Amino acid sequence: MTNTTSRATANADKLRDKRVQQEIIAISDDIRSQRPWLKYQDTIGLSIFSISIFGCLLNAYLYIQGVMPAWMVILGTAFWTSILHELEHDLIHWMYFKKNKAIHHLMMLGVYVFRPFTVNPWVRRHIHFHHHKNSGSATDIEERGITNGEQWGIKRLLMVSDNMLAVYLRPFKYLFEPLRLYRQGKVTRRDLKNFRLIGLLSYNPLGIVSHMLWHGFILFHLANGVAWMFSMSIPWPSLLLDQMPWLTTLAVVLFAPNALRTFCLHFISSNMHYYGDNKQGVIVEQCQVLNVWWLIPLQLFCFNFGNTHAIHHFVVRDPFYVRQMTAKRALPVLKENGVRFNDIGSFRRANRMHPVKKTNRQPVASVA
Ligand SMILES: [Zn+2]
Ligand SMILES: [Zn+2]
Repeated sequence: MTNTTSRATANADKLRDKRVQQEIIAISDDIRSQRPWLKYQDTIGLSIFSISIFGCLLNAYLYIQGVMPAWMVILGTAFWTSILHELEHDLIHWMYFKKNKAIHHLMMLGVYVFRPFTVNPWVRRHIHFHHHKNSGSATDIEERGITNGEQWGIKRLLMVSDNMLAVYLRPFKYLFEPLRLYRQGKVTRRDLKNFRLIGLLSYNPLGIVSHMLWHGFILFHLANGVAWMFSMSIPWPSLLLDQMPWLTTLAVVLFAPNALRTFCLHFISSNMHYYGDNKQGVIVEQCQVLNVWWLIPLQLFCFNFGNTHAIHHFVVRDPFYVRQMTAKRALPVLKENGVRFNDIGSFRRANRMHPVKKTNRQPVASVA
């Protein structure tokens, strides 16, 4: 490709992205003009926040009172926390109470405490802004952290299901990847420092403690299950057995719902973003739309993420509920402009847009 041709292609890509952005903004403006109440964004955000947290607390209360069965609590609270996730993402983009920092940060704390397995939202703000600018690159640690770009298999399935397993099963990558990126000249020394700081602060302490309790709970029951198969029982110390009632309650009302929600969100998110061979800075190539029917059970616990997240990459200003309203008219605009829909083949290509050459495992597009 000559320099002139590649410059012309880059310009065409930029113009196409701009066109899509303008069309989606026009759709969103139209929807906002038909529903003037949408301008009370802070009030709407705080109301959704309060209702979702009330829903989680009510489920917990009904479980403790013996009224609601565990499975119903897990499904119900997974749904409410999926809304809290959307609110967290909106808060990260400063969509609620930008001028009233106290309420803003109180909401940040609330969405964090009820989703304790996640990266600290104040840390995630930096990682997420970086994701928008560098989606699909080696430095997009938000998506790489949830397995984007990895080959599909049992290991990736385990890592999608659990944020800490995504660290434990890639210890060398986790420790040395920032240094490798620095040596390759892909990040600056300051970035390297920030990466290390992010590594230290992301799950510390809430994420680490809650994962330890959750893993302890699972291992306890796994061990009991194995012992039962051999007609044996494990003589657990009474100090440990005394902790099981409150740990079981916490597992049902908080950990299991969040594990389910995390799996659904990370499965969809890590599969819908492209990695490695998408043209950097070209939004049309950053992600696909994943709205195939068999993903509906997962979309239920991540607020239709696969159907709407690509719209967010083009227009960031809309809260999640406005994005849902624009989707019907915005998705055809994405399709007309080349955003892929249900590109299931990308599962086999480890999120690459193009087939990978077997000889050198390099994406065809980057070789060309
Ligand atoms: Zn975002
Ligand atoms: Zn994204």
